[in-house]
Amino acid sequence: MRFLLDNPTFAMACRQFDQAADLLDLPQDLRERTKWPKRMVTVAVPVRRDSGEVTVFNGYRVQHHLSLGPTKGGIRYAPTVDLGEVSALAMWMSWKCALMGLPYGGAKGGVACDPRELSRRECEALTRRYTQELIPFLGSHSDIPAPDLGTDEQVMAWMMDTYSNHAGYAVPEIVTGKPVSIGGSLGRREATGRGVAFLVNRAAELLKLPSPLRVIVQGFGNVGCHAALELARTGASIVGISDRTGAVYRAGGIDLAALQRHVAREGGVQGFSEADPIDGEEILVQPCDVLIPAAVERVIRADVAGRIRCRILAEGANGPTTPEADGVLAERPEIFVLPDILCNAGGVVVSYFEWVQDLQSFFWSEKEIYDALFRILTDALAKILKRAEQRRVSTRMAALMIGIERVAEAKRIRGLFP
Ligand code: NAD
Repeated sequence: MRFLLDNPTFAMACRQFDQAADLLDLPQDLRERTKWPKRMVTVAVPVRRDSGEVTVFNGYRVQHHLSLGPTKGGIRYAPTVDLGEVSALAMWMSWKCALMGLPYGGAKGGVACDPRELSRRECEALTRRYTQELIPFLGSHSDIPAPDLGTDEQVMAWMMDTYSNHAGYAVPEIVTGKPVSIGGSLGRREATGRGVAFLVNRAAELLKLPSPLRVIVQGFGNVGCHAALELARTGASIVGISDRTGAVYRAGGIDLAALQRHVAREGGVQGFSEADPIDGEEILVQPCDVLIPAAVERVIRADVAGRIRCRILAEGANGPTTPEADGVLAERPEIFVLPDILCNAGGVVVSYFEWVQDLQSFFWSEKEIYDALFRILTDALAKILKRAEQRRVSTRMAALMIGIERVAEAKRIRGLFP
């Protein structure tokens, strides 16, 4: 399995794990059992294109550990997807679920493709064939997918339909993040972004930052857009936004409704005339109170970490900050880091609520969902702050230690089979 280390994102996840395991003094055997992914599935996904040709895509699903319950994690459609990236993301899901106290191990999956180059029919065909290939490995008590980069509620609906056709009856609990009309949960669509906004506001209170908070967001998809909307609703001024097409900046604050209309029309933020264009890297280092990377991994590298001018770094994306950048941030105590496995956990927590509601066929109000989510996030933040202070470690190390400790303890107490 060591070949996975050739992938820089997996190598990064392992480095973080090793640092936290050292701090926890994990015995070598338990360390090895806790670190490596339990199952890695690779599938060939043939799709007939609109042109009549057939393209074979590579699909993956990695289940990191099965010690606390079913595995849980998103499905990513992006050109970068490979076994190493998916394995790293599955590992982070394990620590995140454990940190939140959810009865899940981590998983992640995806298909190496550019979803913008697929027609809707091709995307449906790809999703159904990928799901079909994975049927032996999925299950509402074994592995439950959800949306991630490049996938959405519609993709989850196709996955649920494909699985249900195979079962012979509707199995809504097989995926989360699906439309409310087929058993999705109220509030799931916005949950990751609203969780980010909730934690940013708590951190701003702790740091006694004056209002309005000036916020820069990288990524204007599910996470970035809903985080920006919720922060604006609670009084913040969103001064910069970027996506894969470009970046825009306006010191006086961006009109998000106008930007959303522009993105719906043009497919990205580029060309938005009510703000100034700016370089996609430069936007990260503009002065602000809150910087939210909410797009892809490894964008806050050491050079960027030395130049960012925020008070709160709120990691909406998974793995946006490299270990080298963490080293730089350790020398910059004025920057408070909300680490990814805490900051973007709102999505998996509400996914868990969706799964519980589907299993019970009993649905909750949006208020019940968000009250419970905010209670869980508040508890997790308090535990992290306490651990960081007790052990004199970064918030990231504290969060990882709590998550890894719970998984390792489950493995220790269950024992080694046979
Ligand atoms: P999405 O596909 O809805 O949106 C991604 C956004 O990032 C798009 O606006 C895209 O243009 C932009 N982007 C892509 N590459 C970029 C780049 N190099 N520079 C700037 N912008 C870029 O995806 P999402 O669901 O919002 O996920 C974003 C991140 O959040 C991912 O790291 C994902 O793993 C993580 N995450 C998502 C969820 C969820 O519930 N969707 C939950 C937890 C974590």
